[in-house]
Amino acid sequence: MKMSPELKRAQENMQPGVITSAGFLGEDTRNLVDIIEQDEETLQKLGIDIDEASGFLHHLLEEGRKGLGEPITVKGIYQVQVTEARGFLACPFEDGIFRKTNAEVTHLPSGTYFLFSELSLHLFEKHHFLQGLGSPFRIDPFILKKLLP
Ligand SMILES: [Zn+2]
Repeated sequence: MKMSPELKRAQENMQPGVITSAGFLGEDTRNLVDIIEQDEETLQKLGIDIDEASGFLHHLLEEGRKGLGEPITVKGIYQVQVTEARGFLACPFEDGIFRKTNAEVTHLPSGTYFLFSELSLHLFEKHHFLQGLGSPFRIDPFILKKLLP
């Protein structure tokens, strides 16, 4: 598919040093539109519904906040630690700003570790963008699958 001007601009904002020092693309050299389409396809194959999965991650984030920075157990099987740094990050698609909130989740039965931020959750939910391969906040569909109830 062709890159729209909005996607081109978003991809520029995703380069290292524009919004975050690491950027959002990792080592991925594909066009943004291809990253999004291929991840949408993978999610579909895995049977992951983006709205359901985002709702679940929002729930973990909200429950995790109750730990006030310390790890807490959610639903008996998730260890969640939510930490917040000062300041805000803009969405590379230029439709909002987000607190620098990180959630570290461990699915205790499998030991699966999963890291996401308020911004990475927004990118996933709203833009279907899981971030490039090698990006520290990439939402890996296969890891997400292990985590979902
Ligand atoms: Zn956005």
